[in-house]
Amino acid sequence: MANLSLYTKIFLSFLGMKIIIQNYLDLRNVRSILKNKKSIPPEFSTVITEEEYKKNISYNLTKISFGKKVRTFNLFILLAWTMLGGLDLLTAKLYSVTKTLWINELLIFFSFGIINQVLSLPFDIYNQFVIEEKFGFNKSTHKLFFTDQVKGIILSALIGGPIIMAIMTFLKTYPETWWVYSFITIAAFQLLLVYLYPTVIAPLFNKFKPLENENIETEIKVLLDKTGFEAKGIFVMDASKRSGHGNAYFTGLGKQKRIVFFDTLLDQLAPKEIVSVLAHEIGHSKKNHILKGIALSFVMLFLSFYLTHLALNSSAFLTGHGLNSIYLPTQLILISLVFPLYSFFLTPFFNFISRKNEFEADEYAAKTTNANDLISGLLNLYKHNLGNLTPDQIYSNFYHSHPPAAVRINHLRNLEKKN
Ligand SMILES: [Zn+2]
Repeated sequence: MANLSLYTKIFLSFLGMKIIIQNYLDLRNVRSILKNKKSIPPEFSTVITEEEYKKNISYNLTKISFGKKVRTFNLFILLAWTMLGGLDLLTAKLYSVTKTLWINELLIFFSFGIINQVLSLPFDIYNQFVIEEKFGFNKSTHKLFFTDQVKGIILSALIGGPIIMAIMTFLKTYPETWWVYSFITIAAFQLLLVYLYPTVIAPLFNKFKPLENENIETEIKVLLDKTGFEAKGIFVMDASKRSGHGNAYFTGLGKQKRIVFFDTLLDQLAPKEIVSVLAHEIGHSKKNHILKGIALSFVMLFLSFYLTHLALNSSAFLTGHGLNSIYLPTQLILISLVFPLYSFFLTPFFNFISRKNEFEADEYAAKTTNANDLISGLLNLYKHNLGNLTPDQIYSNFYHSHPPAAVRINHLRNLEKKN
C-alpha cells in the first residue's frame, strides 16, 4: 500500500468501504427475513397463506444471493477496466482503426458499451429465465428478450452517439468551459427525453391503450373531477408480455403527463384498489415529483460535469485510477466508470427523498379516496409480487425508493384515523 498513489489509495478505500457496507446490509436484511420466518407479519396474516409466505421468503433470499454474485462480478470488471489496464488496452487497439478521428472516438465508446452489455448478458438471462421463471414471473420469450437487447443497443447508439459527439466537440473547442456548455446541452436533451419518453420511447417496447374498466368508470370520473387530472393521460401497458410483476407509474411533463398501469397490476387489484392507486399516482403529479426529480438530477449533472472537468485536468487522478492513456475518450470513460463508486455513498440521500415523495403521494390518495383501499391494494401488490415483507430497517433506509409495506400501511392507518 505504501507506494500507491494518493488517488489509488482513495479509490481502493472507497471500494473496500462499499463492499463492506453492501455485505453488511445484505447480512442484516437476510437476518431480518429469517428472524420473521416463523410467522407471517400481522399486517399480512389475513391476505397471505403459509405457502405463499414460504415462497416469498425463498424468492427474496434467492434475489439477495444472486445480487451478491452480480456485484462480485461487477467489481472484477471495474478493476479489470481500471487498475488492471483494460481501458489502456482498449485504447491501444482502437484509437487508430480508421483514418477518421471522430469515427475512432465513437468506436471506443461503442465498443466499451457493447463489451459491458455482453458481459452482463449471462446474468440478465439467468435472472429472467431461471430465477424469475422459477417463481412464475417470467413471461418473456427468448425472441422477445433478444429483440429488447437489440432495440436497447440501437436506441443508446442513437441517443448516446450525438451526445458524445457534442461533448467531444465542446471539449476540444473550449477546453476550459466545455463542461458548462455540455451541461446546458445535456440538460436540455434530458428534458426533451422526459418529454418524449411516454409517447416516443416507451411505445418502442410496449403497447399502450387507454384505461377502460366499466366497474370503476364512475369512481374514476369522480376522482378526476376532484383532482383535475385529465382522463386522456391514463393508460394500460402490456407488461404481461415480459413479466408477471405488477406496477404503476407516473411520467412525462406538461401535456405529455401520463399515468401508466401495468396490465398485470390490474389483474392483481380489486376495482376500488385500482382507483386508490390511481389517486396515489395523481398525487405524484400534483406534488410535482417529476419536476423536483428533474431539478435534483440537474444539480447532480452540473456537479458531475464540473468534477469531470477537474478530473480530466488531473493526471494524478487518471493514473491513480489505473489509466495511462492521454486519449480523451478513454479518459471520459474512466471517469464515468469510477464516479458511481463515489456517488454510491449518496444512495441513502436520494432514496430518502424518494420515500418522502411516496408518503406525500399516499397522503394525497388518502385524502382523495379511501386509505383502506390503498392499504388493501398495497397488501395485494406485495402478495402477488413477492415483495420483501420484513426488510431490515437500515437496509431499507439505504436502498429502498419506497418505504416498507408495513410502514406505509401504518402511515395510512394513522391518516385514516385523523380523517
Ligand atoms: Zn409512488
